Amino acid sequence: MTVEDTTATASHPQKQQDTRRLISFVFPIYNEEDNLTPLIAEMDHITADLDYRREYLFVNDGSEDSSLERLLEISHRPDVRILDLSRNFGHQIAVTAGLDAADGDAVIIMDADMQDPPRVCLELIHEWEQGYDVVYAQRRSRQDTAFKKFTASMFYKTLDALADIDIPQNTGDFRLISRAVVLEIRRYREHDRFLRGMISHAGFRQHAVQFDRDPRASGTTGYSLKSMLKLGTDGILGFSQVPLRLISRVGFVVSLLSLLAIVYVVIVRLFFPQVTVEGWAFLACAIFLMGGVQTMLLGIIGSYIGRIFAEVKGRPLYSLQEPRVTAFDRREM
Ligand code: UDP
Ligand code: MG
Repeated sequence: MTVEDTTATASHPQKQQDTRRLISFVFPIYNEEDNLTPLIAEMDHITADLDYRREYLFVNDGSEDSSLERLLEISHRPDVRILDLSRNFGHQIAVTAGLDAADGDAVIIMDADMQDPPRVCLELIHEWEQGYDVVYAQRRSRQDTAFKKFTASMFYKTLDALADIDIPQNTGDFRLISRAVVLEIRRYREHDRFLRGMISHAGFRQHAVQFDRDPRASGTTGYSLKSMLKLGTDGILGFSQVPLRLISRVGFVVSLLSLLAIVYVVIVRLFFPQVTVEGWAFLACAIFLMGGVQTMLLGIIGSYIGRIFAEVKGRPLYSLQEPRVTAFDRREM
């Protein structure tokens, strides 16, 4: 333990070496300047009596407000670590960076806007103590806009129908994962990331804790409709090949219909010469319809190819502004 590393033992001043287990809290931060102070106050409060050491890992995801300055103000605290990404990489990547750096025996992933109520962490930790490796917080209710609730529920239903793995309904990334799971997830380096799917995929003993999701404390959501759609697509394309199989099914149905049409035309020609089969209108419709269907199906193939392209390039998932800011280096590793 280094000279500066004193507050971790503040509640046990007589101890030289704090051998208690460590809990890491990973907070992705994108424009959360007004939420940081209340968040840290609340976190300090609820974790004060825990018989664990704690570390707060703030991942600044290219914030454009004063979030980083606010974080640097508390960077002297030995239980605070800051990772400063070189730009905005998105929530899933920011959490990934946090998981890569977290040292805890258990790691809790939570939003910094107090939508994931800090008090629920105690329940997560309690279930972890019972031997579960993944304790995910499942929303009993949420205080979001009707649009967000609707799109979220549609997304979970689609995902449930399509994905090869069982992804629990109404869960975000708010969860505790044990060190064993963190080490496993570090091996999942896919670029289009859907963390909750990866954690389900990893297996281990999983358990749900119910909670009521609060409204965002301050500021606006960093998830635009576009990034929500991207996350949804990553969930479906990353964990399912059903869209690809759909292509051959559509092809099959269209071929079958065409066969029926051919039979109809032949019969009319042979046995009802007085009936004329309308020519160009039918043809034009058929051509445009098939053009549309084929382009859509190509789009599905294109989405998978785009993902292959991203993987083949093998770029790093994120870059840090400075490899290590703040207390990171001073810590006992
Ligand atoms: N966030 C991030 N990068 C982004 C968008 C969001 O790190 O590009 C963080 C944000 O600061 C918050 C968490 O991810 O801590 C969840 O984001 P938000 O609250 O905006 O999403 P919502 O709760 O509306 O789905
Ligand atoms: Mg939020």
